Amino acid sequence: MKPFGYERAADAEGALATMARPGTEYLAGGTNLVDLMKLGVATPEVLVDLGGLPYRDIEEPPGGGLYIGALVSNTDLAVHPAVEAAYPAVSQAVLAGASGQLRNRATVAGNLLQRTRCRYFQDLTKACAKRVPGTGCAARDGEHHDLAILGASPQCIATNPSDLAVALSIMDASVQYLGPHGPAAISVHDFFRRPGDRPDRDTNLPHGALITAVALPELPIAAASRYRKVRDRASFAFAAGSVAAALDVRDGVVHDVRLAWGAVAHLPWRCWAAERALRGAPATAESYARAAEAELAGARPLRDNAYKVPLLRNLTVEVLLEMTP
Ligand code: SF4
Repeated sequence: MKPFGYERAADAEGALATMARPGTEYLAGGTNLVDLMKLGVATPEVLVDLGGLPYRDIEEPPGGGLYIGALVSNTDLAVHPAVEAAYPAVSQAVLAGASGQLRNRATVAGNLLQRTRCRYFQDLTKACAKRVPGTGCAARDGEHHDLAILGASPQCIATNPSDLAVALSIMDASVQYLGPHGPAAISVHDFFRRPGDRPDRDTNLPHGALITAVALPELPIAAASRYRKVRDRASFAFAAGSVAAALDVRDGVVHDVRLAWGAVAHLPWRCWAAERALRGAPATAESYARAAEAELAGARPLRDNAYKVPLLRNLTVEVLLEMTP
């Protein structure tokens, strides 16, 4: 591993000031960053340890919703009674990811900032425009069975590995941060980005910004939400495909629905087209299949990942049927 400096931030202002120096990166749980440093993919000059900052609480604001500190561990998030009761898909998504040991260490903000697990991104001998812009993409003609079918670009077909991000997508969460101009917030939909011609950028977070919390609005439909993940093995693994859903059916008709997919794109994929197709439709398997197919009309699978198209269709139908009264 390349030698690096280490500083422990005493407060947010100190963290931001240190981060302004070139070659500096934040360190929280370190469950992804340290692995990438060992591989030589991440080569920071200095790490600023955020472990002493006070963002470790889950608060219930008077106006409703939840305010989740950036340094709350994935475990603490998953088992919090208010999360389990009001946003069960969030709890289920976190518990579907990683191992117990990793969840104890990993933080909420770190979960959202984890990098793709595309094998070529982690291999310094292979071309990867996400690692080194403009160098090509070894995955396109290589091993890509777990990579994107939606929203990719000629430069990059990576998928976002976060389960949590998919669940947050249907909750209309927002990411709170301290940026160059003080406190700010960005919707989770704008936080993540498609790769376009800048696949090296995973998010639209301003450089150096310090995530302080994730805010969940009060959302009655979320109490009936669900997260389902399909993966290559039963023990911990990244998704081959996943579905986050919330459904409100009245008199046999879909009154409201929220739907997002994981492991299909560079970002958690909110299924806006499917949702539009479902509102007002009969709550039946046929409607659910048609809605999923409407969303998948934009899919551009490659040689080895076309299986994701029927997988997401069938998983969506199955999850929505299970939720249908
Ligand atoms: Fe790199 Fe993206 Fe291509 Fe993977 S898919 S090799 S991350 S450019």
